Amino acid sequence: MARHIFITGGVVSSLGKGLMAASLAALLQARGFRVRIRKFDPYLNVDPGTMSPYQHGEVYVTDDGAETDLDLGHYERFTGVSARQSDNITSGRIYQDIIAKERRGDYLGATVQVIPHVTDAIKNFAMSDTDDLDFVLCEIGGTVGDIEGLPFVEAMRQLRNEMGREQSCFVHVTLVPYIAAAGELKTKPTQHSVRELTGLGIQPDILLCRCDRELPESERRKIALFCNVRREAVIPALDAPNIYAVPLQYHREGLDAEVLHHFGLTSPAPDMARWDEVTDRYEHPEGEVTIGVVGKYVGLPDAYKSLNEALVHGGMANRVKVNIKWIDAELFEKDDAEIAAELEPMHGILVPGGFGERGTEGKIASVRFARERGVPFFGICLGMQMACIEGARSAGIAQASSTEFGPTSEPVVGIITEWMGKDGLEQRAAGGDLGGTMRLGAYQAELSPNSHVASIYGSTTISERHRHRYEVNGSYREALEGDGLIFSGMSPDGLLPEIVERPDHPWFVGVQFHPELKSKPFDPHPLFKGFIAAALQQARLV
Ligand code: GLN
Repeated sequence: MARHIFITGGVVSSLGKGLMAASLAALLQARGFRVRIRKFDPYLNVDPGTMSPYQHGEVYVTDDGAETDLDLGHYERFTGVSARQSDNITSGRIYQDIIAKERRGDYLGATVQVIPHVTDAIKNFAMSDTDDLDFVLCEIGGTVGDIEGLPFVEAMRQLRNEMGREQSCFVHVTLVPYIAAAGELKTKPTQHSVRELTGLGIQPDILLCRCDRELPESERRKIALFCNVRREAVIPALDAPNIYAVPLQYHREGLDAEVLHHFGLTSPAPDMARWDEVTDRYEHPEGEVTIGVVGKYVGLPDAYKSLNEALVHGGMANRVKVNIKWIDAELFEKDDAEIAAELEPMHGILVPGGFGERGTEGKIASVRFARERGVPFFGICLGMQMACIEGARSAGIAQASSTEFGPTSEPVVGIITEWMGKDGLEQRAAGGDLGGTMRLGAYQAELSPNSHVASIYGSTTISERHRHRYEVNGSYREALEGDGLIFSGMSPDGLLPEIVERPDHPWFVGVQFHPELKSKPFDPHPLFKGFIAAALQQARLV
């Protein structure tokens, strides 16, 4: 049976539990263990698909088409293990299933309650589909003491009782703040947070103490004494210079060794070569490029988490530092001279995914600038759609638009109502539900043999993840290709345009999918690697 590691957070939110879980999994993997990480989100949304990126950051999409929490992106980037639908659950989904069963009469007249029905559903989720694993890491969203998190903590308590200490481990992430007036790190918030957890029946086994400076030995011992753990189980977690340095740092502080000690396991020292290489590439760039990202949710970096990381990976692949200039597309609906003044310093322009009309004219203007000036351009999902609308306007179709923005006489981008899914034909009504109804998850595309993208991928068949409701309208293909925008990737049935490119441009690619979701620091995505290489070329020119 797989061993379970439960990860909770205390004191404040944003302590980096997701990164911690991802890093611990990477360390166990580096010791040869098979791992998987799961996220338990206590909120009542069924999934984050309908949540605003401003509130919740990006929606991470898995191969099997689940819209999940962005922490699953960290998990996948750090372990290379593809996340699945079964790795993220919310209170909303649990209640949805339970209420559907109750309505069907499946409970045979019983009273349906948080304990045992909700807690059993959480336990089943934690235990399901884990046969081939050594460790399952379960991260509980939120902070211990949150009302909506209580059933999750209770389910973990029950699991510990059932599995025993040898099969389960509780890691609690806390904050040890520095109080300037006292000139000291303070352990009291950690003590309170552990007391809160023990009040719920859980004695943590390992404490990961986030702090911004060295934790003195005396404080480490004090935390151990008051929180009832051994001194070695109090792991100082200082802020890391970059996220890819976190596994190395936690290893130095003894986190993985302490986890193995808890389980009574021994293993040879982990093979950290992958992480040494990644941090070396990150910390010792040999040049730099500046990429302008013209998007809508630029105020919150988490809204484009995977994109940000994929650009960094593209930089590592080329051994350059990537400076990202986030440009608010809405403020960008200016005259040509102002747009040129802002975009001229950019070595590459990227228009990312997005929803709704706001800011789209600014995005289209950026595509035009990139096309006319020969600046490397990368359009992702909505960005590809904008590249096609811009291309159509350049081809003389002045009214070119998307039906996403309202009725139009020239629907260069239109709603997809039918496509071939994994289980046969998928159909959608134009005015249907918003949640979980997009074309989601991994789909194959066929690339034209002599295209730029086929040479970038080194293959003519690819699989990439999608999340969209609209699609470039194939009936405009001739007009767009006549103007130099070539459809170089199509769905296998030849119906849905997946990639467009401009052969007469140094680097101009638009993709209907989200390649950023599959990029990893130790395996940068070829499109990001190619885009940054082209930006580097551009930097040498200007
Ligand atoms: N809004 C567009 C669509 O639904 C693009 C989506 C996206 O960029 N992810 O097709």
